[in-house]
Amino acid sequence: QIRPRQVRGALFTWVRPEEQKDPELLSVSPAALRDIGISPEEAKTEDFRQFVAGNRLYGWDYDKLEGGYPWAQCYGGFQFGQWAGQLGDGRAISLFESTNPSTGRRYELQLKGAGMTPYSRFADGKAVLRSSIREYVVSEALNALGVPTTRALSLTLLPHSKVIRERIEPGAIVLRFAESWLRLGSFDILRARGDRDLIRKLSTYIAEDVFGGWEFLPGRLENPDKPAQSSPPKRGVSAAETEGPEDAAENRFTRLYREIVRRNAITVANWQAYGFMNGVLVYRTTTLPLGFISLTREQNTDNTSVFGLSIDYGPFAFMDNFDPAYTPNHDDMMLRYSYKNQPTIIWWNLVRLGEALGEMMGIGPGVDDPTYVADGIKEDQEKDVIARAEKLITQAGEEYKATFLAEYKRLMAARLGLLKAKDSDFDELFSEALDTLETQELDFSHFFRRLSSLELAEIATPEARKDKASIFFHHEGPPKTIKEGEAREQLAAWLEKWRARVIEDWGEGADNLPDDRDAARINAMKRVNPNFVPRGWILDEIIRRVEREGERDVLDRVMHMSLHPFEDEWDGKTFNGVQYKGDAEEEKRW
Ligand code: AMP
Ligand code: MG
Ligand code: MG
Repeated sequence: QIRPRQVRGALFTWVRPEEQKDPELLSVSPAALRDIGISPEEAKTEDFRQFVAGNRLYGWDYDKLEGGYPWAQCYGGFQFGQWAGQLGDGRAISLFESTNPSTGRRYELQLKGAGMTPYSRFADGKAVLRSSIREYVVSEALNALGVPTTRALSLTLLPHSKVIRERIEPGAIVLRFAESWLRLGSFDILRARGDRDLIRKLSTYIAEDVFGGWEFLPGRLENPDKPAQSSPPKRGVSAAETEGPEDAAENRFTRLYREIVRRNAITVANWQAYGFMNGVLVYRTTTLPLGFISLTREQNTDNTSVFGLSIDYGPFAFMDNFDPAYTPNHDDMMLRYSYKNQPTIIWWNLVRLGEALGEMMGIGPGVDDPTYVADGIKEDQEKDVIARAEKLITQAGEEYKATFLAEYKRLMAARLGLLKAKDSDFDELFSEALDTLETQELDFSHFFRRLSSLELAEIATPEARKDKASIFFHHEGPPKTIKEGEAREQLAAWLEKWRARVIEDWGEGADNLPDDRDAARINAMKRVNPNFVPRGWILDEIIRRVEREGERDVLDRVMHMSLHPFEDEWDGKTFNGVQYKGDAEEEKRW
């Protein structure tokens, strides 16, 4: 029965999507079709349209399904650092898993906004067009940038659906997909309920089914007190390393924990390197008709993925002018979820996971002992188990830091056109660039893209560097708080360091600037520094045009740009690729 309720002793409930009348398929991501393995012709069929609206199950009639239905997940979460109780998929319904035969990659397909589930709490199970457009676009944009993320296949408008939020808004459904929709909150709820049995089952399922087997988890740390700088695991497959006998220091559940930690470290490093803010939380009160108050809270441990995906797109934003204290969440007065705090917040969430797995980690090699499996730790074991678990979590924290830094360094080095970063680059190159961006209020994404096209020969002299500095300015020039001359000096000084570092990076004999090397560097930089990111104002403009003006093409166009973020130009006339924040000229092009 679909009635909001507490669901105990289970991690999901069978549910059925609501019937939708006259669904209008607004847009489909060609990249998503390819990755799932659906042909573009198939996506034009009536069956597909009914499928992505939740009316039919890929040609199957819901009324005739036997032995299983779509399902909604049960999870809990910490929000604002406080335990929030049972949350769960309140407006998401998973349909089935599908493996693409040509890539072997398996995805779980899911509808968002298809109606109520037992986890809808006080809400309606619906999603508005506005937030659906945002999720549809950003999922595919992040994926194209190489940032681990959940994906989006399609966006469907529900013409008869009226959703009450701040105003009455049109409803929509996004069909989204991911290798896994499990989250840290899936463990939190079990821990809160003391369900040891399900914690073990869920951990085993994740290791064997989601990650493909225990052997794909990271090997034991050779020296647990000094974690290795891990290289990033490939998506879906992590580096299988030495499989040694389990000892007191590390059993397989510890390795599972480390894998989840590593994946999230890599994802946060990507967020930081690309100026992406997950927003991590909306805490918003809405006054409904008759004076009822509805409370929306979003994102926390319930929104940190076991697979290390960026997940749950609410108030996300890409950084415009660089400001590390920026948070896209206007209600977040404590800046808990600001850009600069993201790595810390995710680690905080991962410590909660460590606590859920702590007993199994801390019991060490005794984890399969039948008396432990049946009854848990004995009183006289408790102190030791807790101490060991704490130590293992601390070690995983060191690995989190090391993995984060290694990945961040790798990405920033690539963004700056270096083949190999040095430790000193952190302070001398990365931090100085970011400080300059901050004081001069320069645009984060533009900085890297414009730097990409700069030929080293163009900045060989102090005069040339000062002259070229202006390519980073906004069209109206540097901010009022800094004199233009000073701004140019500061940028020129950094450009000099950068130029010297690029030449040093090429190795010996490179100081006479061979043109082909520089051209290769420009090419490489353009492949990692996007010319397009879906900024807040762009999404606002698209939402306005689709909702108010009834435009449709604009969705496919922005999807095209999101899927090809590194192009110099799109169709030449419509977009010339250069977009300034709030630039009147650029806005006219939309
Ligand atoms: P989220 O903002 O997606 O992190 O949501 C937090 C919790 O509230 C999750 O359990 C959601 O499924 C639930 N939720 C949010 N909005 C709705 C809605 N319109 N209907 C039902 N449940 C919702
Ligand atoms: Mg959520
Ligand atoms: Mg959300």
